Amino acid sequence: MKILVINAGSSSLKYQFIDIDTKKVLAKGLCERIGIDGKLTQKVSGRDDFVREDAMKDHSDAIRMVIEALTDKEVGVIADMKEIDAVGHRVVHGGEIFSGSVVIDDAVMDALQQCVELAPLHNPANIIGIEACSKIMPGVPQVGVFDTAFHQTMPAKAYMYALPYDMYTKHKIRRYGFHGTSHKYVSGRAADMLGKKIEDLKIITLHLGNGSSITAVDGGKSVDTTMGFTPLAGVAMGTRCGDIDPAIVTFLMEKEGLDEKGVNDLMNKQSGVFGISGISSDFRDLEKAAGEGDERAKLALDMFAYSVKRYIGTYAAVMGGVDAIVFTAGIGENTAMMRAAITDGLEFMGIKVDAELNKVRGEERDISAAGATVKTLVIPTDEEMMIAMDTAKLVK
Ligand code: AMP
Repeated sequence: MKILVINAGSSSLKYQFIDIDTKKVLAKGLCERIGIDGKLTQKVSGRDDFVREDAMKDHSDAIRMVIEALTDKEVGVIADMKEIDAVGHRVVHGGEIFSGSVVIDDAVMDALQQCVELAPLHNPANIIGIEACSKIMPGVPQVGVFDTAFHQTMPAKAYMYALPYDMYTKHKIRRYGFHGTSHKYVSGRAADMLGKKIEDLKIITLHLGNGSSITAVDGGKSVDTTMGFTPLAGVAMGTRCGDIDPAIVTFLMEKEGLDEKGVNDLMNKQSGVFGISGISSDFRDLEKAAGEGDERAKLALDMFAYSVKRYIGTYAAVMGGVDAIVFTAGIGENTAMMRAAITDGLEFMGIKVDAELNKVRGEERDISAAGATVKTLVIPTDEEMMIAMDTAKLVK
């Protein structure tokens, strides 16, 4: 079975074409500048990149060009569009409606519209991507896979905010959590690596990338996660502030003369390790600057490691223990220094990393030191594979 995975943004669209039986990525690509001019880049292992610059007036044009690239006699990987068995879409917000992936039909489309107010920047693009596929590939089953769905198992005591209760009933204000597809994938892989059933494991998954979130996965279910009503909450991130005293928001609006957009911009785009260091949101730049003695870069890295460590303790308490912690995403998979800083001092909990094994980038590895009672694992995330697997399961 061959699945096309689509991740549609407002002016871009990423795709992967996956053979689910062999778990092989046959092709992957990116459509950029949709509605402006248009550029498609497709990568196929062992071949030169294929680039096509052509007008893409909307997402339907982009999908049409993706199919042309996949079926092209010279640069394609299939002979006919009929070889696309199903399409899996990444959808950012499923609200409280979707606690798992779903086959898309008219009722689902209506429900997706209801979730737009919760993710006004992301969900409309996801919906447009689905509509474009229905138009270009009528009859091919489509599945929605939600960033929020995995976290729908959180208990009310974890997802409610202590605001007046009708703020929840009227405005759906609660913790939703994000990166669910990634947390689900790496916790499942962790169980595989440990040769245990996920039902028997307490795992803390650390998705540390440009956006970062941490999840307590008890018996395969998310029971708490750091991102909240929006992906701004939790640990400090590249440019996002993470958890701050909520009273700072109105204080800042007054002192800096900011309106809602201004303060949102400050917290989402000018904060995090970028805001602290004044240098970069990229941890490679920060490690270099810190190595050269820059104090604010060092502070930014220290703050990040501290905020992640704090949640490891919190989630071990929440679950009444922990069997494994998993590092994933850009920072988690690549930065030995950050993994060491985060786990430093957690020996009392049974967490200890082996310095030699920790020298790893982007591959699955158990980096626990001898005698550690809690396993520390590095597991590259693969959201597209997870989306393809969920899609295949639902359409089979
Ligand atoms: P992601 O959002 O998962 O793509 O992660 C992106 C972030 O991962 C970048 O902004 C970097 O901070 C970090 N990153 C990626 N590669 C490396 C690397 N080789 N060393 C250190 N940090 C990295």
